[in-house]
Amino acid sequence: MIWDTHAHVDDPVYREDFQEVVTRLQASGISRVTNVGYDLPSSERSVQLAQDYDFIYAAIGIHPHNAEGATAEILAKLLLLAKQPKVVAWGEIGLDYYRDLSPRAIQKEIFIQQIKLANEVGLPIVIHNRDAHQDVLEIIKAHPPKYGGVFHCYSGSWEMAKVLLNLGFYLSFAGPVTYKNARHTVEVAAHAPLDRILVETDSPYLTPEPRRGKRNEPAYVREVVKKIAEIKNLPMEDVASQTMHNAEIIFRLVKKDLR
Ligand SMILES: [Zn+2]
Repeated sequence: MIWDTHAHVDDPVYREDFQEVVTRLQASGISRVTNVGYDLPSSERSVQLAQDYDFIYAAIGIHPHNAEGATAEILAKLLLLAKQPKVVAWGEIGLDYYRDLSPRAIQKEIFIQQIKLANEVGLPIVIHNRDAHQDVLEIIKAHPPKYGGVFHCYSGSWEMAKVLLNLGFYLSFAGPVTYKNARHTVEVAAHAPLDRILVETDSPYLTPEPRRGKRNEPAYVREVVKKIAEIKNLPMEDVASQTMHNAEIIFRLVKKDLR
C-alpha cells in the first residue's frame, strides 16, 4: 500500500495507454495517487480524475510558472473547485527562480494569495520551490498555511529541512533521491523522521532509477520507497505504510493535530 502523493497523470503523454498505467500501478501496490494541478485546466482535470477513479485524489492550484495571467477570475474558479469532493490540497504553488517563467514579484503575489485561499477553504498546500529557498521561507513565515503543507520533490539542504520540519511541514521525496549525484537529498532522507516523509513520482517527470530518462508513472514510486528503506535501513513495508499514514494525515483523511 503506497500513496504516490504527487503525479500529473492527466498529462497527454498517458493518453494512449492510461488504462495500462492504471493496471500497472494497481499491480505494484500503489493504492492512492494525488493528481496535482498547475493551472486552471489541469486543476479541472485533476478534479475530474478524482471523480472518475476511486484511488485518485486531487490537488488544485497555479504553478509559479503560470502565475502571470492568474487573474482574480481564475482564482475565484479555483476556490470553487477546491470545495469539490476529494480535493485534498492546494497546489502546486510556490516560487521557481530557476526558469523564471513569470516575473518574481507576480510569483510571490500569487503564491501568497493562494496560501490565503487554502486557509479559507481548509486545505494544506503543496509547495514547489526551485532556487527560491529564502523567499519561500519568508513567505510561509509571514503567511503560515493553517492546514500545513508539503515541500514536493524536496531538494534543499538538511539545514533548510530542519527549519521546515520545525515549522510543521512534510518533505516529499521523488525520483532524484535514487540518482547517483543525490548526496544532499540522501542526507535529508536519512535524517528526516519517518513520520514527516511522503513519497511521490511527479510523473511524467523525474523517473527514478533504474528507468531514469524514460517516461515516469505512479507504479515506479516503489523505487522511491525502496531507496528510502535502504537509506533508513528499514523494511520497505514500514516505509510504505508510514508514508501512507502520513499522507492520510496531511491530506486530512484522518484527523490529527498537525503540530
Ligand atoms: Zn509537479
